[in-house]
Amino acid sequence: MSWEDNVRKVVPYVPGEQPNKSNMIKLNTNECPYPPAPGVHQAVRDFDIDKLRLYPSTSAEPLADALANYYQVNKNQLFIGVGSDDVLAIAFLTFFNSDKPMLFPDITYSFYDVWAELYRMPYKMIPLDADFKIQKEDYMVPNGGVILANPNAPTGEQANLADIEEIIRANQDVVVIVDEAYVDFGGESALPLINKYENLLVVQTFSKSRAMAGLRVGYAFGNEKLIQYMNDVKFSFNSYTMNTPALQFAVAAVEDEAYFKETTKKMIATRERSKTELKKLGFMFTDSKSNFIFATHPKYKATALQDMLREKNIYVRHFTKKRIDNYLRISIGTDAEMDILFDTLREYMK
Ligand code: PMP
Repeated sequence: MSWEDNVRKVVPYVPGEQPNKSNMIKLNTNECPYPPAPGVHQAVRDFDIDKLRLYPSTSAEPLADALANYYQVNKNQLFIGVGSDDVLAIAFLTFFNSDKPMLFPDITYSFYDVWAELYRMPYKMIPLDADFKIQKEDYMVPNGGVILANPNAPTGEQANLADIEEIIRANQDVVVIVDEAYVDFGGESALPLINKYENLLVVQTFSKSRAMAGLRVGYAFGNEKLIQYMNDVKFSFNSYTMNTPALQFAVAAVEDEAYFKETTKKMIATRERSKTELKKLGFMFTDSKSNFIFATHPKYKATALQDMLREKNIYVRHFTKKRIDNYLRISIGTDAEMDILFDTLREYMK
């Protein structure tokens, strides 16, 4: 007998690498290429250091007020966490306790099966169709819960909201989570449905469209009963997840709607232009509605392209997973960064 017999052994999620090089073009973890809103810079300058003496707000004030106001929901329909990863980890622990398998696609955010394994939950990965789309009927079978990223990652594919609603309606005996990390880049949010379906949790983040991946703030909307259950679990785990500076800086981001609209609009325009350029280079890709493009090339191996780009200090993401191991996920950078990427690819393919 060894102490190691009683260790919870897990295979952890592997985040994209965070190299810290000057002049790198970082298109591998779907961060925003633009800085946080100007109001955030001011909030950082104005932060009162003495506040760090005290514990932070356990109800995530003042951010809870700002988000409730912005999205026109009640504060008790809102859960705030340390990035959407924290929100999702708490949601899994709270809602997916059935003996039946929880369901999610085979190709999706690769943290879902990691949490399911960590918590020892039965789960079933349902293959996306040949076009990387979900088939709603696949989720209308007995199950212990459903999670769908919409738009999906790493494909960028957007399922239509009517299909999502049918899945929610068909599964009212379990919780359905819609992970909307990328919804602000032209997707359609399921948020309005929280008043119609008690079993729906909608999760979003400050990491992409609000340019604050480093601050670690995510949030979820749901029926107040659902949120209360999540809070019970959260307060059984760690009451002080949100630090005071994060709660204040995030407010400044929410309040600057004009900047948020402007940066997301710019990123959408760059994404659409990038599709045209990648097509000219012979790439094939899904019709992404996110801040990345999931692309494959019939003549060049994804790993060879990734290695070549890395040599030039350009980072893109590759997943060693069946069905997608010849794809690259390319985050949308600034126009100037994307031009360097296209020039580099053009030069290589000459
Ligand atoms: N959901 C999806 C689909 C993602 O791609 C990511 C980013 N890795 C997250 C959630 C988590 O993002 P964060 O914790 O930064 O909010």
